[in-house]
Amino acid sequence: MRAAAFVYPWDVVGDPDAPRRLVDLGVQQVTLASAYHSTRALTPRHPRHRIVTARHSAVLYPPDPARWSGRRLRPYEQQWTPSDDPGGPYAEAACALSDAGLAVHSWVVLAHNSRLGEDFADTNVRNAFGDRYPWAPCIARADVREYAVTLAAEAAVRPHTSGTELESCGWYGLAHLHAHDKTGGVRLGGAAQHLLSLCFCEVCQDGYAVLGADPEELRSAVVQALEPVWSGAAVAEGGPPDREGERAEVRRLLGEEAAGIFASWRATTARRLRREAVAAVREAAAARPEGTDFRVLLHADPAPHRVGANAGVDPAEAAEDADGVVVPCTGSATERADALGPFGARAADGTFTVAANFTVVAGMGGSPHTLAEDAAQARGLGAQELRLYHAGLASDADLAVVREALHGLASSPPTR
Ligand SMILES: [Zn+2]
Repeated sequence: MRAAAFVYPWDVVGDPDAPRRLVDLGVQQVTLASAYHSTRALTPRHPRHRIVTARHSAVLYPPDPARWSGRRLRPYEQQWTPSDDPGGPYAEAACALSDAGLAVHSWVVLAHNSRLGEDFADTNVRNAFGDRYPWAPCIARADVREYAVTLAAEAAVRPHTSGTELESCGWYGLAHLHAHDKTGGVRLGGAAQHLLSLCFCEVCQDGYAVLGADPEELRSAVVQALEPVWSGAAVAEGGPPDREGERAEVRRLLGEEAAGIFASWRATTARRLRREAVAAVREAAAARPEGTDFRVLLHADPAPHRVGANAGVDPAEAAEDADGVVVPCTGSATERADALGPFGARAADGTFTVAANFTVVAGMGGSPHTLAEDAAQARGLGAQELRLYHAGLASDADLAVVREALHGLASSPPTR
């Protein structure tokens, strides 16, 4: 089973041993951040630092001034990883990794950018109460879509790179992991999270009207549907997330007609971004002297109503729109089957890649000790590849366990 590990350029730049360690780990490929959101990241093995603070969303390469000239929305440059390479820290890291024999995929975050949202408040998703989400640009807006599509092409197709993985290539909403989050006071189930993620910016309201709905009626339907959540009358169920249950709950709370309007508008809007972004990446890849052999994968969830880093997408549409998907697989065997099964069914003909994404950092909810058996289950569900989150953040102990699992997988025959 082909395995790839996520890494940041700052895990590699300035650490001459990093590529060799990744080869020893047993991966054949890395997914290297090219356009990324703000983060504070541990670097347990780096010779020069232990904590990297990426203060805002940024690209890890110098953006092309001609490409962005005259545009209001543009990517931000970073200062936290110095590099002498004219292609910036991404190119420096990608070159070192490919010299060590590793294939490199770029890792591109699209519709999630808190600095953009602070600088351009009009681009924010606005919920039914009128609250703005500065971390979530509304992808229905033409300026946001143009920005994301342009960024996809530029950030995906970089030197020494044979494919890309587009994260947040779809709707973002309430869900947002943040160090200072204080939103846990009321437990929000999947349906409530979805309702709080529905956008009422002027572009989305126009979209609802074009579909024959009254935006104001929709807005009060959402506010009313959420009332039991605030009063405590509706308590989110525990247990594993159930995608069908969430969808049924949204329909029950909003009514079939309103739920249908939102689903239709959001599916059409997300698909337009997805198709335009993938097409722009393919066009940029085809213009390279290396030719067109460039894979475009989506970080995806099989439930179209889900929002966030793994944007929801109908599996049949994903198979038409991209070369494959990277699917979150951390959790129980039941959760894994629910997430992976619908995509795995599309992988049977071999033209659609399904990669099972496992968190292997024990301190971040991962389970490196069960990687071998979890990967075997994923293979049975149709996954052909593994993604390991994250070779830079993990402790030495976690990486030793992963190494053992990967070397065991390499010597065991495929089950299908
Ligand atoms: Zn909107």
